[in-house]
Amino acid sequence: MELQLEPLKLEGIEEKRPLVIAGPCSAETEEQVMDTARQLAGKGVKIFRAGIWKPRTKPGGFEGVGVEGLAWLKAVKQETGMYVATEVATSKHVFEALKAGIDILWIGARTTANPFAMQEIADALKGVDIPVLVKNPVNPDLELWIGALERINGAGLKRLGAIHRGFSSYDKSIYRNLPQWHIPIELRRRIPNLPIICDPSHIGGKRELVAPLSQQAMDLGFDGLIVESHCNPDCAWSDAKQQVTPDVLDYILNLLVIRSEKQTTENLAELRKQIDECDNELIQILAKRMRVAREIGTYKKEHAMTILQTGRYNEILEKRGSQGALCGLDADFIKKVFEAIHEESVRQQMEIINK
Ligand code: PEP
Ligand code: MN
Repeated sequence: MELQLEPLKLEGIEEKRPLVIAGPCSAETEEQVMDTARQLAGKGVKIFRAGIWKPRTKPGGFEGVGVEGLAWLKAVKQETGMYVATEVATSKHVFEALKAGIDILWIGARTTANPFAMQEIADALKGVDIPVLVKNPVNPDLELWIGALERINGAGLKRLGAIHRGFSSYDKSIYRNLPQWHIPIELRRRIPNLPIICDPSHIGGKRELVAPLSQQAMDLGFDGLIVESHCNPDCAWSDAKQQVTPDVLDYILNLLVIRSEKQTTENLAELRKQIDECDNELIQILAKRMRVAREIGTYKKEHAMTILQTGRYNEILEKRGSQGALCGLDADFIKKVFEAIHEESVRQQMEIINK
């Protein structure tokens, strides 16, 4: 069956990559939802996500606040003007979400894997015009993913998208869900006009992986990113390890390099100009750092302190390593760079002390 698709068409949202959807894994309290939403809106995020009904592997975990939370999403919409999105897994969820004016629905990975649930949702959506994003099934089965999209499309919904959130695996890996990029790439080949969004949070399972996975998705030509963001990630009631604050999300998004699919010599010249600008900034910032190091040298001389403060040096190496990892930089590379910078700082301070 060939899918009959239309663009997602979201008024007020620029058609540039990446389309960003962000918000907490789960809506927990009205305060948490509003605080996170206000911060994200302040960073220019236009689509807010929050899970209201949470599918949990085992009973006893936080299963979502349920309908009560829909009122909070409504408030987010009214106050910030963001579009709001939530996950639906049953026809009851669909009715409640539509009644509350939710703008975008997504189907979770466990639901996509279940054709009965997919058909029930498709039937509940018949005649409704709302964008629906279908996550890949938990198991690496492209046909099941396409089948779920076909069921929703068969109910008349044309504004569809796919979300790549990685695949379950019994083997241990650094990922929570293996990316298996060739599967969404094959999906793109089979259905070229279907927008594909990457969910680096559920692929990575840890916040350090959000930046590198987002960059990888952009390099592979994905259209958007859905990222879990929470005002206080460490205290989140679900998926605490993989959520980032709105500030960190903004930082990650700003660092993304978005390459055009049509690379021309003009693009290359533009990219080289960007490299020149980066190098210029690097040199200026290094000069500033050395000026500060010399000031510290003067202070150490006046207070008869040793130049090398081992505790501080270790702290720098460690902190910079993890800051670097957050930006997708190799830890060994960062270590080498900071060893070189530190060596030069020590040399500059020696000069001052021996003056
Ligand atoms: C989610 O997006 O919070 C979620 C439950 O994701 P998935 O269906 O990908 O596990
Ligand atoms: Mn989650």
